[in-house]
Amino acid sequence: MTRVLYGGKSASAEAWRDALLALKPDLNLVMPSDNYAPDDVDIVLYEPSGPIQDMTPYKNVAAIQSLWAGVETLLGNETLPTEPPLLRMVEDGLTFGMTEYVVGHVFRAHLGVIAQQADQAREIWGTWNPPLASDRRVGIIGLGALGRDSAEALAQLRFDVSGWSRTPKDISGVRCLSGEGGFQQIISESDILVLLAPLTPETENLINAKNLAAMPKGAHIINAARGQLIDEDALLVALDAGHIATATLDVMCTEPLPQGHPFWKHPKVTITPHIASVTRPETAAKTVITQVERFETGQPFLHKVCRERGY
Ligand code: NAP
Repeated sequence: MTRVLYGGKSASAEAWRDALLALKPDLNLVMPSDNYAPDDVDIVLYEPSGPIQDMTPYKNVAAIQSLWAGVETLLGNETLPTEPPLLRMVEDGLTFGMTEYVVGHVFRAHLGVIAQQADQAREIWGTWNPPLASDRRVGIIGLGALGRDSAEALAQLRFDVSGWSRTPKDISGVRCLSGEGGFQQIISESDILVLLAPLTPETENLINAKNLAAMPKGAHIINAARGQLIDEDALLVALDAGHIATATLDVMCTEPLPQGHPFWKHPKVTITPHIASVTRPETAAKTVITQVERFETGQPFLHKVCRERGY
């Protein structure tokens, strides 16, 4: 019977055990503190901050299932075996949570909430009406499990939505772009730009000084992907110059954001502490059990990471 090792944070261990056993009561689930032979583990559930970081004892592992959508830390693990597939986390709770974060913060930028709060602090009765959503261009960088759902939700709310991915996509109500030409188009035509692409060598510093300058004056940026997608110094320059109106940052190059960092008190920056979305055991257990059942029935695993591409 497939042996699954829970390698996530101990604080979530009970919730994961309950959720997994509720779906598959006979699951052969072991915890890091249990007495087990590493050679007998078939699937490791991996979390960057979890207790299982040295993969060398797990010689016969069939797959490593990340509990996170982002896999750059897993890929950077030097003890990673070369053969078994690495699996990203794709699950409804993570996807729907991210869509709620993105839609909420897109509306915040769209309705000018940050500027209005600044007016209120100075007792200014500013009269300004936002355009209708249909006249607001929203660009989503990354149309994967998370970006696609956000793009569809925003399109249903009548925003003028474009999305950019490495390979071409066809999503109803969304202008799908790809390639370098598509990138230049999306950054030059987005009033609100949402980052939902993975951190890879190709996406690091994607939003640099040159690309910030190519964005429309007064554009807003929402980063729910990884901090390293943005050149943070260049962003501060663009915000202070008034070229970028606001930045909402859930992720930063250094987390937690160091005390005294200029983002903390910047009037045009909203910081959220990497909480945009999270894997929820109660919904994510379904993904893990599906992978176990596919393994047991000889079907290929889902959501495989391409090690060469980095996501
Ligand atoms: P995913 O399903 O792998 O989708 C990634 C998307 O980015 C795909 O559409 C992919 O294009 C596109 N992409 C990747 N590299 C590209 C490139 N060089 N040029 C153009 N497009 C590129 O990932 P996901 O599940 O949506 O998650 C996205 C990221 O969100 C994660 O990697 C993680 O860093 C971040 N995240 C953050 C939080 C948070 O709380 N802040 C929570 C979860 C995830 P193709 O479709 O053509 O492959």
